[in-house]
Amino acid sequence: PAGAAPGYLDGLNPEQREAVETTEGPLLVLAGAGTGKTRVLTTRLAHILATGRARPWELLAVTFTNKAAREMRERITHIIGPEAEGLRWLGTFHSVAAQILRRHAELIGLKSNYTIIDTDDQERLLKQLIEAENIDAKRWTPRILSQIIDGWKNRGWTPDRVPTSEAGEFANGKGITLYRQYQERLRILNACDFGDLLLHNISLFTGHPDVLDEFQRRFKYVMVDEYQDTNVAQYLWLRLLAQGRQNVCCVGDDDQSIYGWRGAEVDNILRFERDFPGAKVVRLERNYRSTEHILAAASGLITTNKGRLGKTLWTEAKGGEKVKVSGVWDGEAESRLVADEIERAKKAGRKYSQMAILVRASFQMRAFEERFVMLQIPYKVVGGPRFFERAEIRDAHAYLRLIQSPDDDLAFERIVNTPKRGIGDTSVQKLLQIARLEGISTVEAARVIIGSDDLPARTRTALSNFIRDLDRWRSMVGSVHHQRLLETVLEESGYTDALRLDKGPTSQTRLENLKELVQSMGAFDTLEAYLEHVSLVMDLDREATGDAVWIMTLHSAKGLEFPLVFLPGWEEGVFPSQRSMDDKGEKGLEEERRLAYVGITRAREEARISFVANRQVYGRWTSQLPSRFVDELPIAHVDAASETGYYGGGPGMQSTAASRWDDPGTSAFQAGSYDSPGWKRAQERTSGFAERGGSWRGGGAGVRAGSAARSAPIEG
Ligand code: ATP
Ligand code: MG
Repeated sequence: PAGAAPGYLDGLNPEQREAVETTEGPLLVLAGAGTGKTRVLTTRLAHILATGRARPWELLAVTFTNKAAREMRERITHIIGPEAEGLRWLGTFHSVAAQILRRHAELIGLKSNYTIIDTDDQERLLKQLIEAENIDAKRWTPRILSQIIDGWKNRGWTPDRVPTSEAGEFANGKGITLYRQYQERLRILNACDFGDLLLHNISLFTGHPDVLDEFQRRFKYVMVDEYQDTNVAQYLWLRLLAQGRQNVCCVGDDDQSIYGWRGAEVDNILRFERDFPGAKVVRLERNYRSTEHILAAASGLITTNKGRLGKTLWTEAKGGEKVKVSGVWDGEAESRLVADEIERAKKAGRKYSQMAILVRASFQMRAFEERFVMLQIPYKVVGGPRFFERAEIRDAHAYLRLIQSPDDDLAFERIVNTPKRGIGDTSVQKLLQIARLEGISTVEAARVIIGSDDLPARTRTALSNFIRDLDRWRSMVGSVHHQRLLETVLEESGYTDALRLDKGPTSQTRLENLKELVQSMGAFDTLEAYLEHVSLVMDLDREATGDAVWIMTLHSAKGLEFPLVFLPGWEEGVFPSQRSMDDKGEKGLEEERRLAYVGITRAREEARISFVANRQVYGRWTSQLPSRFVDELPIAHVDAASETGYYGGGPGMQSTAASRWDDPGTSAFQAGSYDSPGWKRAQERTSGFAERGGSWRGGGAGVRAGSAARSAPIEG
């Protein structure tokens, strides 16, 4: 269309506009956070449609989450109207790959109505195979194997392609054999797992050039957001699809690569220019999201990383608030601080939905959720159940409820075989039946059945052990502190052991959540009081609709933005997480730092970082060191002055801390005495970071004074 430029191009800066209008040929947009990459991608897509270069079904656009895909579709609809509905190939890698596979499933040995199995099924299947091979499934768990296999799939390896050197330790190298068997089983079941979607696509394309040709012709334009997080399989898939017409546009930021553990490869960014010779690279340097201080703080932090491509960012949003960093006494004080700030901001006119709390690990959510329930601040947890709705928390509560009231049949049903103790569904059905017939509780029915010969001897022994344990735990109520009681129950029931043995991706998180749970019970005098609290919280704890504060992990905050962002728990071991440092050393640390960069750059106007001096972990106070990331923030853009008041740890805090524990043996704080090593450490730490507050190192971290009056360039 000739004449005046269409309205959607208005307001784009020259580089953005160049990226939007460069529709033909390979294009890489490499730019820092908030520079408008996603906006460019959507506008470009709309532009291609509006100028008649392609019809909606001829565009392939992939993003990482369904939420991102939805938002992209909305933005395009906003620009071009209902035609956007025809964008059938806009979605996540998985959703697009699944659609392609549906059409040609039979070519790789599946029927078009194949099912996609979830991780539970995946593990169940692997378990059967492991056992059939006479491998000890306790030592070599299905979960580990499923992770190994996922890893191979992420790297684009079918069983034949896995290098023998990568066979790994699993059951003395039997991993590959099991992988092959697993794939065969899936085929027989007419099923595939998530990793297969891309892998099957790749096999389909490489094995059937005509099919590849069909899709290469169909997709006139290919676009990818968050390109830095693509793994090898995704990359190979993209390359195959894009190599026909070469009209491929990827946007990304190497500093925001945060999925290394899922096999994402920053190298893909570098490979792009090799694989698509003549690719145009556009860099965007103006950040439209954040104010100067926020941007400078984030840019300064990320310069500590060595493996970077490096970039310059600037913003016109001068001034604004510095990034506020507060050290507080403990987790409770932290949640109080955040809740207070939220209430203040709300009074000042902000909506709740303009505020977000971004945590490193989900266990951190509990304190905030509980505080919000108390103050009736509406909140939403993104990407996962709320704390009290998590399976492990419900399990723990079921144990406690059953100890408190033996008639709680629902609790009994939930945990009678959790962890597995050989009491299967049929046995449980039997118990329920007896309970119904006799009008007694299930526990009573269990007692009856133990003395009969109704069930196999093994099951009866298992039941009788379980009932004996329950009775013993019940007898501890009142004499043992309920925090201790729950710890005992979790240990003696084998619950924590089962999680420890389980090397799956969530077991560590679940253990952390349980620790957090034990810790949180300290605020209640009795088990009864605690359980009553839980039932109230569970009742109030309905998903808020409408205006609500966001709580989510840093990982799920990718690509999003909020006017006010809270970043709690910036302590060594929490963030950077101990695990990432233990497992991956310097590389792990750099990835954590990128995550910190993602966190700060979510903020438009205000970013608030906090850390605590003490955390209670399994009832033990441990002193925490502020995160090294706190030290790495350029001091010129940080406001740490106001927090000295929080460091004091006044007498009120001391006494609550001490009264939490009546068993001196487990506590670093001995009741009534503040001379214990734990207390000293905590005090030293406290004064330690009071000093730090004054001596954070200066703005060496890459902040250059703005030469042009209109902008403050920040070198990264
Ligand atoms: P991230 O790296 O976090 O994914 P991004 O580079 O994708 O960030 P966007 O989310 O596209 O950045 O844009 C950040 C913010 O800046 C958005 O609110 C967007 O609307 C705004 N923005 C981008 N470009 C412009 C522009 N030319 N004029 C005004 N606002 C803009
Ligand atoms: Mg984006």
